Amino acid sequence: MLIKTVLNKLEHFKSFVFGAVTFQEVNGSEALVVEIKARANSRPECPECGKLGKKRDTQPVRLFEYVPIWAFKVFFQYAPRRVGCPIHGVKVERMPWVYGKEQMTTSYKVYLARWARRLSWKETADIFKTSWESIYRAVQHVVEYGLANRNLDGVTEIGVDEIQVFTGHKYLTMVYQLNAGARRLLWCGMERKAKTLLRFFHEFGKERSQKLKYVCSDMWAAYLKVIKKKAPNALNILDRFHIMRKFNEAIDLIRRGEVKLFKAENQENVLLKGRWLLLKNRENLNVKQTIRLKTLLKLNIATIKGYLLREDFQRFWEYKYPAAAEKFLDNWITRTLQTNLEPMKKVANMLKNHKPLIMNWFKAKGVLSSGAVEGMNLKAKLTMRKAYGFKSPECLKTALYHTLGKLPEPKCLHIFS
Ligand SMILES: [Zn+2]
Repeated sequence: MLIKTVLNKLEHFKSFVFGAVTFQEVNGSEALVVEIKARANSRPECPECGKLGKKRDTQPVRLFEYVPIWAFKVFFQYAPRRVGCPIHGVKVERMPWVYGKEQMTTSYKVYLARWARRLSWKETADIFKTSWESIYRAVQHVVEYGLANRNLDGVTEIGVDEIQVFTGHKYLTMVYQLNAGARRLLWCGMERKAKTLLRFFHEFGKERSQKLKYVCSDMWAAYLKVIKKKAPNALNILDRFHIMRKFNEAIDLIRRGEVKLFKAENQENVLLKGRWLLLKNRENLNVKQTIRLKTLLKLNIATIKGYLLREDFQRFWEYKYPAAAEKFLDNWITRTLQTNLEPMKKVANMLKNHKPLIMNWFKAKGVLSSGAVEGMNLKAKLTMRKAYGFKSPECLKTALYHTLGKLPEPKCLHIFS
């Protein structure tokens, strides 16, 4: 079978035909070069408006990189015509296999982008003997297409969160869709200010924002303010994950202070390597860790007191009746405010100040899964870890949309079936 036959099955370029396939040396290695010719009597298309125009002249032959086959690089070879358009003047014609002035075909970009979702961009570049920048451009193109062509109908549940990026105190605001079966990253933007989230709502549109039923967020004041204003029909929920994160931050703060104290007083550091034991959920510990935790819990130190307060608070989420839960919450806050654990008291005050929003969790029970935002965050962090080469926020955002956005792809390429 001829390679041409396979290509005809893969790609349909209406006004063009495949010609000879030959081996040629390209950039120092042997590659398959597929000639493309314009159909006889066909007229070139203006790249701006798509209208057919008169051919002015023909430019020198150019190569366009296509999907490799059997580890040979493949190139399309074509001499573009210039078209005279009454509106746009003389332009290089539109070629359906490539976008703009790019050298890489759209099909190859989609192909590389699919691999770049599974591997790091560096690994993808190494395997396909191309540069990191080429992978970035390929992913960027696919993401731009996806964002322009995605469907935002039916978004009624969203989660807002921030994650720390790069070094220093830099944050990325993440907005996820949380509807069951349709979880995805909807939007991300640098910083975590009110105006950051306002940008999301502006892009999302007023009509869609009105239709939001649930917004899950943490206690960050800037977010709460914007959600109240821009999603007036939504129930704002401070969910389990976000609240328990505050507890963990408080326990960690106490622990660090205490370790410093042990050092200063030349005492044995009984909390050595205790961080994960205390922050992890008990059911996720192995036997050895469970035994060590039991020993730790016998110690009469501030960190353990904080830990036990958190353990006690977990009961809050188990209540069936909101009134009983509220009573428990009040009681917990009072008890905690009587301790001398400053970071824990801070959590207690925060809960006190946000009680209505916390109680919303019970109103939405069963609708929103509390692990949804956490799960998406973990995936986002994994993407960032895989991509140590991300130098700019733009690049990072592209990678996140690519892996978490569930974006539609440009329609091309055959898929295994
Ligand atoms: Zn035109």
